[in-house]
Amino acid sequence: MLKTAERLAVAVSGGKDSISLIDVLSRIEKHFPNVEMIAITVNEGISGYREEGIKIAADYARQLNIEHKVISFKSFYGYTLDEIAQRARELGNYSICAYCGILRRKVLNVMARETSATKLATAHNLDDEAQSILMSLLRGDINELRQESNLSKVFVPRVKPFITTLEKEIALYAFLNGLPFQSAPCPYAGTSMRNEIRRFLNVMEEEHPGMKFTLRSTFSKLQSLLKVREYSIGQCEICGEPSSKKVCRACQILRSLDLI
Ligand code: SF4
Repeated sequence: MLKTAERLAVAVSGGKDSISLIDVLSRIEKHFPNVEMIAITVNEGISGYREEGIKIAADYARQLNIEHKVISFKSFYGYTLDEIAQRARELGNYSICAYCGILRRKVLNVMARETSATKLATAHNLDDEAQSILMSLLRGDINELRQESNLSKVFVPRVKPFITTLEKEIALYAFLNGLPFQSAPCPYAGTSMRNEIRRFLNVMEEEHPGMKFTLRSTFSKLQSLLKVREYSIGQCEICGEPSSKKVCRACQILRSLDLI
């Protein structure tokens, strides 16, 4: 995933996964003098929740002597997630996580690009991956299942070093190493379909250990049989950011809520 010379941006929310990730990567990085790290925290604007994670991320990055940057939805989009959620609910839409994920992804890519990062590492783990696979299958979203290929340099390549590591193993690592992390759940987490899938997969994993890993490896085999999704990247006609469609997904969300 990584080369011996990188400027590596790491997305750090302050939760156990991302704090463990920056901890592990900083230990490895010590052996590679041509690797630089920068921690990026996105402040979505979730009142009473996000502040704690940002402080933990900032303090731990300082402790590891890693540059840390925070970027907010408010400064980037003009709205906090709370404001976006309120508007979505007025329109009868309660799946806030779906909005948050797309909006955060765009902010992270812009920040990684603006800080000249060569890779963007996120703390997605095996549980996240298994959930995403099942969600795409249940939604019938074939495009999400296909590998993507684009020749554009405008997307900073993403790496997911914990992709084959169970969430509970990461939690164990964080506890055993005495790492600081935010344990309170996001107030919107219960609204997502992902949450229902998580509960289902956890029950299945309990009854059939190894099932999450099997799901991922089966998916990889299937993916190799599917045609790679090649697409060209243009510019979003609203924000000018890279997009394979006329309007990028983040702007589509804001437009559907009459926020742009
Ligand atoms: S739980 Fe949902 S709303 Fe909360 S930070 Fe995660 S994706 Fe965003």
